[in-house]
Amino acid sequence: MLKAEIISRLQEIVGKEAVLTAKEDLTTYSYDGTSTWAHMPDVVVLPTTTEQVSQVLKLANENLIPVTPRGGGTNVSGGSIPIKGGIVLCTTRMNRILEISKGNLVAIVEPGVILQDFNLALAKEGLFYPPDPQSFLGCTMGGTVAENAGGPYCVKYGVTKQYVLGLEVVLANGYVMKLGGVTVKNRTGYELIMLFTGSEGTLGVITKITLRLLPLPAASKTMMAIFDDMAVGGQAVSNILTSGLIPAKIEFVDNFVIRRIEEMTPMGLPVDANALLLLQTDGSPAAVEAESEQVIDILEKSGAREVRVAKDAAEAAAYWKMRSGGFAAVFGAAHTVMAEDVAVPRDKLAEFIRKLDEISERTGFFIQYLGHAGDGNLHPSIFTDIRDKEQFARAQQTMEEIFDTALALGGVLSGEHGIGLEKQRFLKKAMDPVAIEIMKKIKGILDPNHILNPGKIWEEEGA
Ligand SMILES: Cc1cc2nc3c(=O)[nH]c(=O)nc-3n(C[C@H](O)[C@H](O)[C@H](O)COP(=O)(O)OP(=O)(O)OC[C@H]3O[C@@H](n4cnc5c(N)ncnc54)[C@H](O)[C@@H]3O)c2cc1C
Repeated sequence: MLKAEIISRLQEIVGKEAVLTAKEDLTTYSYDGTSTWAHMPDVVVLPTTTEQVSQVLKLANENLIPVTPRGGGTNVSGGSIPIKGGIVLCTTRMNRILEISKGNLVAIVEPGVILQDFNLALAKEGLFYPPDPQSFLGCTMGGTVAENAGGPYCVKYGVTKQYVLGLEVVLANGYVMKLGGVTVKNRTGYELIMLFTGSEGTLGVITKITLRLLPLPAASKTMMAIFDDMAVGGQAVSNILTSGLIPAKIEFVDNFVIRRIEEMTPMGLPVDANALLLLQTDGSPAAVEAESEQVIDILEKSGAREVRVAKDAAEAAAYWKMRSGGFAAVFGAAHTVMAEDVAVPRDKLAEFIRKLDEISERTGFFIQYLGHAGDGNLHPSIFTDIRDKEQFARAQQTMEEIFDTALALGGVLSGEHGIGLEKQRFLKKAMDPVAIEIMKKIKGILDPNHILNPGKIWEEEGA
């Protein structure tokens, strides 16, 4: 419980209506996209300016109050859970697009801008910001930078960090630091922008973001390849990428999601297929035609049962809507869904899928997966029930086996969702111990009182 004088100071800083203390309000900010974590904050503040963020952090730092930064709360690693209570600092009201510069191919945004709103505004100018986490209807630009989010477009265009040119960050002591600028090249000092990108709210609160943009591609084509064997589909991905082609998107959808989507919104999906690959090519109309033909040829030669080409924009949009609804289809399927985020080298995708099948057979857990096949980034999910302790423990063990398998293939613990609370138990397996120590030292320099998103990324000593 925070003292009454802290609450009234917060009210002075951000205004009374921007400080939430009612239980029903706090509950809304006690969970995120995971189904295994929840913790109540003591208070939620909704600042509208950088100055307010600075004053809130100064107050928290002087009084050693934990602060959990939060955007849309859509992360799936427990990152925005206020696990130590204290203040949730939610930046959703800082939601202005400050500038879109067509001349510089740059935009400056506040952290609370919703990704979809940003892309709709860019499209009016013929511009495009590629990183596209499939939570684009609810995730904020601040959250995507703090998680270094990825998405389907990242096969060809790269992840968030490839687009961040500048940041304004408020440090734990309230200092407002400016990094980078609007130039696409900048080799001034250490890459501190990269340090804050992906820092999961543990090093500072992002209050302004300068992003590189691209012209909207003139044409695109969407294809759906149907496979009777998911691993064959995995091999097809490698075959495409080693042929010299890099499609804009290559996504995986498994039989579970195909059936769930078809149940909810029938659209003629092949419910008997073991897996689908959804692909998109983009560029000039001529290049799209030529590339799509080559992709279809490789898919057919790699064992696709059928390749459907979306006949128009509406059909393509329906295919991609099906993909973006994949997580919702999965999360509604059980009381507790452990959805993870490993990435393996792309030429190991087929092998990884075969090993997941073996793990599923041995442990008896159905392993569902969908994900960004073109990046080797799958989201294996296990359906369980946290209320059944014995089953939940076995599910956790099975997930650990999945992590071990991905690491043994040269993969990583998290392709895009971050470590948060969900994967901190496994960090030691996945990172050099000296690198972990260096991260802790950096944290100590920037946030010596450990007020910013405490309890995240690594396990605390003695935990
Ligand atoms: C249906 C669904 C689909 C998804 N698909 C993808 C996907 O394809 N790719 C992908 O990468 N992720 C995906 N995600 C995960 C999630 O949407 C991303 O991690 C996203 O970047 C989180 O943004 P957010 O605004 O919701 O942030 P939050 O969940 O609120 O916070 C995420 C982290 O960022 C920190 N943070 C938030 N705002 C700030 C700020 N202003 N300053 C500093 N730190 C801050 C928080 O402390 C927390 O650690 C998906 C999630 C769902 C539910």
